Amino acid sequence: MLAFQEDALTEATPVVVVSRRGATRLRGGHLWVYRSDLVQPVDLPRGRLVHVHDERGRKLGSALYSSASQIAIRLLTSELLSEQQLPSLLRERIAAAVEFRRRVARDADSYRVIFSEADLLPGLIVDKYNDVLTVQALTQAFDRAELRQIVTESLVEHFPGCSLVERVDPNIRELEQLPERPSQVVHGERSNAIFTMNGVRFHFDGLGGQKTGAFLDQRENYAAAARYAHGDALDCFTYQGGFALHLARVCQSVTAVDSSRPALEVAEQNEQLNHAAHRSGEIEWIEANAFDLLKDYSAAGRQYDTIVLDPPAFAKTKRTVPTALRGYKELNLRALKMLRPAGILVTCSCSFHVGEAEFLDMLGWAAADAGRRVRILEKRGQSQDHPVLLNVPETAYLKCLIASLID
Ligand code: SAH
Repeated sequence: MLAFQEDALTEATPVVVVSRRGATRLRGGHLWVYRSDLVQPVDLPRGRLVHVHDERGRKLGSALYSSASQIAIRLLTSELLSEQQLPSLLRERIAAAVEFRRRVARDADSYRVIFSEADLLPGLIVDKYNDVLTVQALTQAFDRAELRQIVTESLVEHFPGCSLVERVDPNIRELEQLPERPSQVVHGERSNAIFTMNGVRFHFDGLGGQKTGAFLDQRENYAAAARYAHGDALDCFTYQGGFALHLARVCQSVTAVDSSRPALEVAEQNEQLNHAAHRSGEIEWIEANAFDLLKDYSAAGRQYDTIVLDPPAFAKTKRTVPTALRGYKELNLRALKMLRPAGILVTCSCSFHVGEAEFLDMLGWAAADAGRRVRILEKRGQSQDHPVLLNVPETAYLKCLIASLID
């Protein structure tokens, strides 16, 4: 690593030439160029800073290179930057990301501090759970020792007293051909925390056997759902109780379903954490396949006033979108049929490949088939700490529709 560092500092920044399609993509505001859009065979050290040119030699900016990923380069800036200038750019970008969150992340000690492309730090994700920060390097570049050090130093400076946990996703390390590494505490001592969103408390365990975390991107949607929720509520795909715990404050009864027992165990611990502080109804946690449960419950004539559907991403690729839409439709159709008059449906999709328009169409078909008239109350997305970078559609992935029955 040291040899690499010295080379990088003394050598001129290497140039990567991209095809017309790659150049058009960058000029259109995207930050990625795929390997198939690199013109010459490129043999560069992993994670290297490169200058990007089009085939006519016109400069497109500076990017971080990956020797393994299909996304070969991720643009950092349209300026031409040297390795020596890279640390100060990273520090500035981290400071800007932190400053932005201080403005938008309200009623929470937990939020995404750095959201990769959307903070112009492509390949870096940092989440805050009260006084524990988690850092995830998604690329070879952010795995480089010098860059990790800059990230750690900056975060410690901005969040004094916080511990830092590096969270490792073995799949991503494999894709980037990075050596295996365990998740570990890289600064401070703690890897556990109790954190709060909208006044609801949750356990966080960054390293333990039951690694926990949260879908921080739903934080504002939890609060929005609680504004409309009433009566008897059903939370499908509850994970560690994100929606259910919020609904318990305003609903008469809450039933929460997930197929993962470990997730439900944490959900119950989260429920206990909140019981002491607030009077809220007891939650019934059920380990089941949500598809089967909805079928059985609707056959049994069960009814609800509020239903939340927040399944995992059904469409992992573009090819699987039709199947995903069928899955979403089945869930939404069953839920709509089980709602009482004036009932509320909160329906989510975190599949990037299913756009908001398609998701709305799907809900339209489901409503027509269910014979229910539905009014859209809110079209929502990710919380503001997960901003969307225009022209990088991959940064907009979460849809959350809040709808009500109107007859
Ligand atoms: N609503 C949650 C996040 C849900 S993530 C929150 O706000 O925190 C998706 C969840 O769906 C995971 O917990 C996973 O265990 C669960 N899951 C996946 N397939 C399922 C199925 N067929 N039935 C029930 N739960 C399922």
